[in-house]
Amino acid sequence: MSALHPAGVTLLGSTGSIGVSTLDVIARHPERFRVIALTANSRVEKLAEQCVRFQPQYAVMADTDAATRLQKELHALAPDVEVLSGPDGLVTVAGMDAVDFVMAGIVGAAGLLPSLAAARAGKRVLLANKEALVMSGSLFMQAVQEHGATLLPVDSEHNAILQCLPDDYRPGAAPRGVRRIMLTASGGPFRTLPVNKLAGVTPEQACAHPNWVMGRKISVDSATMMNKGLEVIEAGWLFGLPMEQIEVLLHPQSIIHSLVEYDDGSMLAQMGNPDMRIPISHALGWPQRIDSGAGRLDLLAVGKLQFESPDSGRYPCLALATAAWQTGGTAPAILNAANEVAVQAFLQQRIAFTAIHAVIRLTLEQCAVHGVDSLQTILADDAAARAAAFECIGSGQAVTA
Ligand code: NAD
Ligand code: MG
Repeated sequence: MSALHPAGVTLLGSTGSIGVSTLDVIARHPERFRVIALTANSRVEKLAEQCVRFQPQYAVMADTDAATRLQKELHALAPDVEVLSGPDGLVTVAGMDAVDFVMAGIVGAAGLLPSLAAARAGKRVLLANKEALVMSGSLFMQAVQEHGATLLPVDSEHNAILQCLPDDYRPGAAPRGVRRIMLTASGGPFRTLPVNKLAGVTPEQACAHPNWVMGRKISVDSATMMNKGLEVIEAGWLFGLPMEQIEVLLHPQSIIHSLVEYDDGSMLAQMGNPDMRIPISHALGWPQRIDSGAGRLDLLAVGKLQFESPDSGRYPCLALATAAWQTGGTAPAILNAANEVAVQAFLQQRIAFTAIHAVIRLTLEQCAVHGVDSLQTILADDAAARAAAFECIGSGQAVTA
């Protein structure tokens, strides 16, 4: 986009951690980007404040009551902003003509339909919403190819890998000359806690990530390492690689964001401070480099970089995710749905931290896996998995498993 034609941007999930970081980068480049639509689930005041500042054409509230309140709020503050509501409103602003880039920053399965709509409309899709790809991998990648969308990962590991691949590489193809990719993981807040203490950890402790400030769901996923499990699946779809060529490496400093090992023995890594504005600005500016606002990395201050292999006894969710990926079909969608229900229950203090993996394992055992022939099949298995996970929590099975 030239200076005369700033790129039109829709931010799905603008009130979240990724959304706020994206607006921070956008605000640094008013000549490059124009906000067309902002969306949120239910945080009226936060979205209203963003509307006043960025003056989008549309604001969408997924919750219809919240949309009515937003409309009242904006009546005096930003009367030119048109308010839409519900899942249809999200899909509409992901695909409209004035939009060039869509930041897919909604958390969880709720992001699937609008993220897919952006791919089907041939947009540049900046993908943070990994759950959408985990659920619908083959359909999503097919939509990207068929509709000429540009899929750029925002997840820091996948963005790092893209940066370590040749300039002409586009996600979806298997990269040439690559022996393996290595996804780094911090290990979360409980990396060194005695395993027998994990059952007693609180949501606040689980959400206190040592290196990143993120939404509550992904923070818990980082503590269980389900996040890395979802990212292995995400990497499989994005980079067209089998499980044997994707490794997970614990790296507590979160300075190396991931690595690519080539056939000649060279290993390329992308480094930077743990600040999501770096991968976000990479995806927004691509193929150019633009200012992100992130602080400069001081390697002398970091001093040491450590690496460890993840302990399967501490992080059972990682093996559940890789097994679901190898099963294929709707197994990753079932895994994802069970995880969303279990994490929510943990955050509401209805189950222990250590029951999260039990809920997911029992749900995977109970739910039939189908071939991914359509979106309907994925959504049906997502719904069945949620029902099974709720049942498992309600009956107390996960506690005794
Ligand atoms: P968050 O909880 O901070 O924000 C989530 C956003 O999604 C909010 O704007 C919320 O309004 C919206 N949302 C939630 N439920 C919704 C629903 N039912 N319908 C419509 N909108 C809904 O989450 P986050 O940390 O910003 O994460 C967003 C996505 O980015 C997740 O998929 C996460 O895995 C991924 N991601 C986040 C980070 C990070 O640093 N935060 C890093 C890598 C990837
Ligand atoms: Mg990540």
